[in-house]
Order: sequence, then C-alpha cells, then structure tokens
Amino acid sequence: MLRQVAEGVLIHQSELLQNNAVVVQGRAGVLLIDAGITAEEMAALADDLRKLGQPVVAAFSTHPHWDHLLWHAKLGEAPRYGTARCAADIQAFLSNAHWKDHIAEELPPEIEVPLDLLGLITGLPAEATQIPWDGPKVRIIEHQAHAPGHAALLIEERRVLVAGDMLSDVLIPMLDLSAADPIEDYLAALRRLEGVAGDVDVFIPGHGSVGGADQLRARIDQDRAYVLAMREGHVPSDPRVGPSAKPGWEWVSDVHNGQAQRLARKRERDGTPG
Ligand SMILES: [Zn+2]
Repeated sequence: MLRQVAEGVLIHQSELLQNNAVVVQGRAGVLLIDAGITAEEMAALADDLRKLGQPVVAAFSTHPHWDHLLWHAKLGEAPRYGTARCAADIQAFLSNAHWKDHIAEELPPEIEVPLDLLGLITGLPAEATQIPWDGPKVRIIEHQAHAPGHAALLIEERRVLVAGDMLSDVLIPMLDLSAADPIEDYLAALRRLEGVAGDVDVFIPGHGSVGGADQLRARIDQDRAYVLAMREGHVPSDPRVGPSAKPGWEWVSDVHNGQAQRLARKRERDGTPG
C-alpha cells in the first residue's frame, strides 16, 4: 500500500479525504508523519512496515486537527511529536469531556476511526528546529496558517517538503479564523514555503496530489491568489471551488462560503482588513 515518492520517502493516501501519511526511512526504523484516518488502513500500514522490518521509531503530527492526530496500537509506542503550540492546542481540546462528540459530528457514521490514541503527542521545545530521531534531518518550518502551531517539514537530503494542510490541489486554503490576522498569517506562511522552494524536488500536501518543483510554485501562487481575493473581499476564481472541483470534493465550495462569511463578520467586528 506504500508508494515511494523520493529515495527513502513513501506515502500512503487514504481514500477518505485523500490524506497522505508519510513514511521516512531512518537507520533503525521509520518516522511516520500524520499516520492516517481509519483503523483498517493504519493497521495495514503497520503490517506493511513490519514486513519491511521497519518499525516506527518516531512520529509527528503536522497540526492539531483530528485527521492528523490519529494512531493505532499496531503502530507501536514510539514517541509522537508536534510543535509546542500544536501540543498545547490539542491538550486543551482533549481536556473537554465531550471532545469525542465534537469529532463524531464531523465524521461520516460508516467510517471507523479509532479515537482512543488521538492526540497523545509531546510538544517539542519552541526553539526546536528539527525532529529528534535517528534518520535524515527533518527541518521544522513552523508557521501560524491554518491551525495553531502548524508545521511543514523539509527533509533536506531527500529534497522533500511535507506541507501539512497547505498547498493542496483539492482543498482551498483554510484559514485559522481564531487568529488575530488569519489572512496575513497565511500569506506569511506561503512566503516561508516559497523561501525553501529551491531546495524541494517533491512536495506532499496533507490532502491531494503529490507534486514536483514546478507544481510547488504553481500551488503557492494558486493559494496566494485565493487568499488575496479573500482579503479584498472578491470571489476567487479557483479550480477547487464551484463546478471545476474534483468529483467528491464539491463540499469545498461550502467551506469557502462559510469562511468568506466568517471573515466578513470578523472584519466588521474588528474594523480591520482580515
Ligand atoms: Zn487541518
């Protein structure tokens, strides 16, 4: 079920939400980034890794949203990390006695998602610049777009960028509307990703298609155009919204309309552009 996208870097794409779980091969085992969604696929991933003789020795969640925080017992008990802000955010979420109900509201009932090990991550120190593990250096590019403590990861010697929930061909930029200035946060994050684009041959978004260096720049431009249109209060012409959306992704238009409305209300309330 694993597909190699660069030397020592493999992915598994979930059918639900086209989530990409990323496996990075190290010396004594693998780093697993955003493990997956359903119990069935995470168990199958664990079986595949066992057959390859490559246990999970470390894990990382790119941001504190449920579909990036799941885990299965068969994947073992390796340390699971996130940024300090990511860990603080999920710990606050888990401290609410009804957190499972909140997630269930977002899930199709026929999907079996194991919630017991959700979000059990350790926050890395705020000044950490790389993931502590025995394998290729993985640089943490933390920024504040989409979710608190969101991190993209650059596997420098493999020239691979793991983008988290940025740079998707199926999902529009989803702003963190709890932030003071979600538009400027998003633009700043895109600038940071653009700043490393010259070191990247392959990028892996949290949802959707993997791309090469040319597509990386095109997706940065596409996301920036969307965010700038939102800043100006325009209707973005974006292939991910409206009739050009991929089959099964028509609901992204609702996400767009919802965040456009919330942004307009926030603007009225704050009297600020964004
Ligand atoms: Zn997300």
